[in-house]
Amino acid sequence: MSNTVISIKNLNKSYNGFKAVDDISFHVNERECFGFLGPNGAGKTTTMKVIYGKALYDSNENTAVDIFGYNPKDKFLDIKALSGIVPQQDNLDIQLNVRDNLYVYSKFYGMNKRTAEKRIEELLSFMELTEKSKAKVRELSGGMQRRLTIARALLNNPRLLLLDEPTTGLDPQVRHLIWNKLRELKEQGVTILLTTHYMEEAYQICDRLLIMDMGKKLLEGSPRAILADNIEKYVIEIYGVCKQDSSCTGYLDEAGIRYEFHNNTLFAYCNDSQKLAKAAETMNESDYHIRPSNLEDIFLKVTGRGLNELQ
Ligand code: ADP
Repeated sequence: MSNTVISIKNLNKSYNGFKAVDDISFHVNERECFGFLGPNGAGKTTTMKVIYGKALYDSNENTAVDIFGYNPKDKFLDIKALSGIVPQQDNLDIQLNVRDNLYVYSKFYGMNKRTAEKRIEELLSFMELTEKSKAKVRELSGGMQRRLTIARALLNNPRLLLLDEPTTGLDPQVRHLIWNKLRELKEQGVTILLTTHYMEEAYQICDRLLIMDMGKKLLEGSPRAILADNIEKYVIEIYGVCKQDSSCTGYLDEAGIRYEFHNNTLFAYCNDSQKLAKAAETMNESDYHIRPSNLEDIFLKVTGRGLNELQ
């Protein structure tokens, strides 16, 4: 049986009467990578901030928040001592070089010089920054700054690593490198909680997910189970189809194939990909693409919007 690191029941957080987090419950097991997936404004960061005590949740008799047995309302320092935090914006000291950014933080943790130096070397090597150890932060690429922020969060050997949008704005190569590092950390026994609006990130690295929108939980489970339980296996995207042209959708209606229009594209869903190919043929459409369905399709199905689309 795995131990529970985070247990949240009926969490609410309001800002001036506006509900940023609306009755969310979930738990995270030790050595698990758990993700909040949702668009901007879904309440992901706020939920994460509650966990490490940076935001105070609303008082409500049904609410219970337990992180390593501590309530962040009054025990946030105990939680911080066991956690590493990677905020959405890198807040490194741009005047200092790479190594000194880590060294300054080691002082906050009360590490002695020898222990700090050893740990810093290990982390620079782990995050592939050894060659940059003497470079000023402002000389680093965005991807290197992110890796340094992650290294800094690992200084105290945290049992829980919290990452808010760890790869937003980074190119695919750095994104993959960071995913691999997070997988390695999980192997080493670190529990990981991250927020993301990239469905690929959620699918690739999370053992379980909570899909959120407008402060509410939509779905929870492993990426595979969420897909298997909530959507057909395949989707066809047919481009440039007019919503008003019912001749296009006649076959789909007859065959009982679910479909919807989104941004001038017809999306039709079915467990049998050959039926979808037949649909395109019958409709005389050549501009189409058949693919396995993904978490973005589920978000569209449940909310009527794309994950990275403005409301
Ligand atoms: P996400 O991380 O999913 O993008 P956030 O948790 O940052 O979402 O925000 C959820 C909602 O709460 C948004 O509508 C945001 O504008 C609002 N919000 C977040 N922080 C504050 C704050 N400090 N004051 C007022 N509103 C806030």
